Amino acid sequence: MDILVVGGGGREHAIIKKLKESPEAGRIYAAPGNGGISADAVCVGIKATDIEGMVAFSKEKKIGFVVVAPDDPLVLGMVDALNAVGIPAFGPTGAAAAIEGSKVFSKNLMKKYRIPTASYETFDDPAQAVAYLKARNKYPTVIKADGLALGKGVVIPENEADAVAAIHSMMEEGQFGESGRRVVIEEFLQGIEVSVLTFTDGKTVVPMVSSMDHKRAHDNDEGLNTGGMGTIAPHPMFTAEMQARCMKEIFLPTIEAMKQEDREFRGCLYFGLMLCADGPKVIEYNCRFGDPETQVVLPLLDGDLLEIMQAVADGRLSEVKIGTKPGAAACVIIASGGYPVSYQKGFEIHGLDAEGQAPGVTVYHAGTTLADGVYRNNGGRVLGVTAVGKSLRDALSTAYQAVGQIGFVGSFYRRDIGQKVL
Ligand code: ATP
Repeated sequence: MDILVVGGGGREHAIIKKLKESPEAGRIYAAPGNGGISADAVCVGIKATDIEGMVAFSKEKKIGFVVVAPDDPLVLGMVDALNAVGIPAFGPTGAAAAIEGSKVFSKNLMKKYRIPTASYETFDDPAQAVAYLKARNKYPTVIKADGLALGKGVVIPENEADAVAAIHSMMEEGQFGESGRRVVIEEFLQGIEVSVLTFTDGKTVVPMVSSMDHKRAHDNDEGLNTGGMGTIAPHPMFTAEMQARCMKEIFLPTIEAMKQEDREFRGCLYFGLMLCADGPKVIEYNCRFGDPETQVVLPLLDGDLLEIMQAVADGRLSEVKIGTKPGAAACVIIASGGYPVSYQKGFEIHGLDAEGQAPGVTVYHAGTTLADGVYRNNGGRVLGVTAVGKSLRDALSTAYQAVGQIGFVGSFYRRDIGQKVL
């Protein structure tokens, strides 16, 4: 069966590499893909948000299954459009993707169905938001743009002046366009952050191995927030007991709530959790695989990804076998100098073979081009160097050995991935 994967980052590369292991997988297309992905899939120049283009291409190539990986085409309803012409696809409908597409929606859902989360208020009037901040006077506080903002829509001001400035730039200056016209102001939670990606067909929910992201650009959690600079799996603090508790208090109540709201969720539902002193709470939902969590979670998935994804889309997830391999995985992101602010593209990357890989590890390409046999950086996050080992220490040691051999002008990476939990 020929497959189309929508997207072009490290997450999509990890999905494609895993799909290739399936005996049923035929030719795999990626739209738009990237230089490194072209070693594993046929890249086609269609923008990830081009719904009409994706539907036309899928019809023309008689694609048997489409995997929609990024948030924006999901929120725009790409899966609805594909299903409407009879093409099966993995991912939630636009209505169900609102669980990520609108933080006001997701917070109200959690309140209505008593799913533990930070206490909050929502605002569409900046004067009221500022009045609330002044009356509450508790810092740090958390301010979130309602809609999608490329992972940058959350600020955690330490004082009133910064909080008021954030409200001003989101709600009045349109820093995130329409996404920031409404905001959520919520309680700052203290605890241990864990990411849990799950498969769900709206009835059954199956968690994959837990993971831990490193969001800040530099070592010791310094510097600006990024899309993620590295991940490890499993998360050592996410015990089997904690998973059982989350299943009962968070995972199952969430899919039940979505069903009640007539927005049955089928796809990968990502739970961003905070393990607080008084129990686990939801920080955020994502309606898709996380990046770079996917790069450590899928290598440890024991199962046929294509079969699982098809079962999710068909609503028969309980019929398939899904397990977790023993051991641990670590992914270290190599980024362009200056990321996440501004950076130059087009530098030749050394240390990669013809397939864009390196010995002992799997290199997932997030932002590269390939021309005349040369890989070049073409984005902020460029490569995710991933290793699997018997222990987290082994995985990290193998990943860092390879990372030391790969680079380009200005490239940098965090040297402390996983150190906090070792
Ligand atoms: P992405 O989709 O890229 O993961 P986002 O823009 O949707 O990010 P969130 O994940 O909601 O943003 O928040 C970003 C980070 O801010 C979280 O990973 C967490 O570290 C921190 N954060 C968010 N909400 C809270 C909270 N209530 N208390 C403490 N920290 C928080």
